[in-house]
Amino acid sequence: MSDTDATPPTDTLRTPIVAVLGHVDHGKTSLLDKIRGSAVTAGESGAITQHIGATAVPLDVISEIAGELVDPTDFDLPGLLFIDTPGHHSFSTLRSRGGALADIAILVVDVNDGFQPQTLEAIDILKRTQTPFIVAANKIDTVPGWNPTEGAPVQQTMESQSDRVQSDLNEKLYEIIGELSDNGFSADMYWRVQNFQGNIGVVPVSAETSEGIPDLLTVMMGLSQRYMKEEMEIDTAGPGVGTVLEVKDTQGFGTTLDAIIYDGTIRNDDTIVVGGLQGPIVTEVRALLRPRPLEEIRTEQEFEQVDEVVAADGVKIAAPDLDDAMAGAPIRVIRNRERSEVIAEVEEELAEIEVRTQEEGVVIKADTLGSLEALSSTLAEEEIPVMRAEVGAVAPRDVRVADTANESTHRAILAFSVDVLDDARDLAEQEGVELFEDEVIYQLVDAYDEHVTAIEESQQ
Ligand code: GDP
Repeated sequence: MSDTDATPPTDTLRTPIVAVLGHVDHGKTSLLDKIRGSAVTAGESGAITQHIGATAVPLDVISEIAGELVDPTDFDLPGLLFIDTPGHHSFSTLRSRGGALADIAILVVDVNDGFQPQTLEAIDILKRTQTPFIVAANKIDTVPGWNPTEGAPVQQTMESQSDRVQSDLNEKLYEIIGELSDNGFSADMYWRVQNFQGNIGVVPVSAETSEGIPDLLTVMMGLSQRYMKEEMEIDTAGPGVGTVLEVKDTQGFGTTLDAIIYDGTIRNDDTIVVGGLQGPIVTEVRALLRPRPLEEIRTEQEFEQVDEVVAADGVKIAAPDLDDAMAGAPIRVIRNRERSEVIAEVEEELAEIEVRTQEEGVVIKADTLGSLEALSSTLAEEEIPVMRAEVGAVAPRDVRVADTANESTHRAILAFSVDVLDDARDLAEQEGVELFEDEVIYQLVDAYDEHVTAIEESQQ
């Protein structure tokens, strides 16, 4: 590359945001831990920065882990920012203007277990949000006879195995490729995927032995570079734009927001607009908090205050009046802009998170806007009508609404990852309104389906 090449300076390209999805127990948490652990081992101390809700792995650390696989001069991107909470629940909660907050995703599939219900759910969400992804075919170390080769690229290790082991593993990998193809994706082993144009790369990995992790990071850098250039240009000097990850109490600061800022800068004393249950909340930043480096943590104070945070980055925001703020809602800094204009933008974004309701149907409740949306789209696919859809705990008024349904099958409340208030539970029992509670969408919908089948059978 010559000096005259017009490569944009890296500080205008933000770090790509990566989410990890997949079926329960397929190894999402282990894989994230392994990536973080590899980064700590590869780099000097301070190589990875622990953020609020996310972990940043800089490019030089990635290239250190990936060895000869990644030449840092090939990339303009500063590294990768991994969202710490794996699973499609958090993925669909994390929205940014016009789609998913994550730029790319890793879909983890256990090679022995193949595609499972939550794998399919994740695929649906990735399709809907048009998020480019790669597949980590995990747990290759459990293939009988597997013999790891320390430090070698996983393709090379695979080729060094006995014919028997090779064919066993290949069979499992081709099953995964077949499943992807059944779901409308053309896919192949990552070393045969050129430029990712319409192709999903499958990377065999082990979150136990670290085999394939260098390959996985390499493929992710390639994928980011391929897809992300334009969307990742940011204006670091501009007003911050972000998404709420979580609303929670922080000792000494009251109700705070854990947030990812994906464009611009947020500063102490900035006025911000945050999406709330009753509409936009306008408030002033009192403190910006980040975790202290591990070696500095003393029992009494986990956080340190900073003056500003630049995208892409995770931060805890302390401000008054945040009790009504919602996970998944937008955050915008008002700086050099009309207050009413910014409020209108937040209102528009909230309205985008649309859940279609009808006059007759079930009541659904969920913990965040994103999960409400995910649940409602699953119900729409099954043609189950929804009469009321809301974020928050199940309250007596939800029961009263469900009680107005004409069809007996619709006298039901589907509660996803939310509490049911005691008086709501009592009232539901009294009125004969069915309550379904779960933390996995497909299980929630399955339970409701079984209930419907039972009613239909009893009516025959
Ligand atoms: P999650 O539910 O998808 O986050 O899955 P976890 O990361 O919690 O992993 C589920 C189980 O599988 C744990 O007992 C892990 O130790 C184990 N596990 C995860 N990855 C691997 C792997 O690559 N090889 C082996 N042998 N076990 C793994």
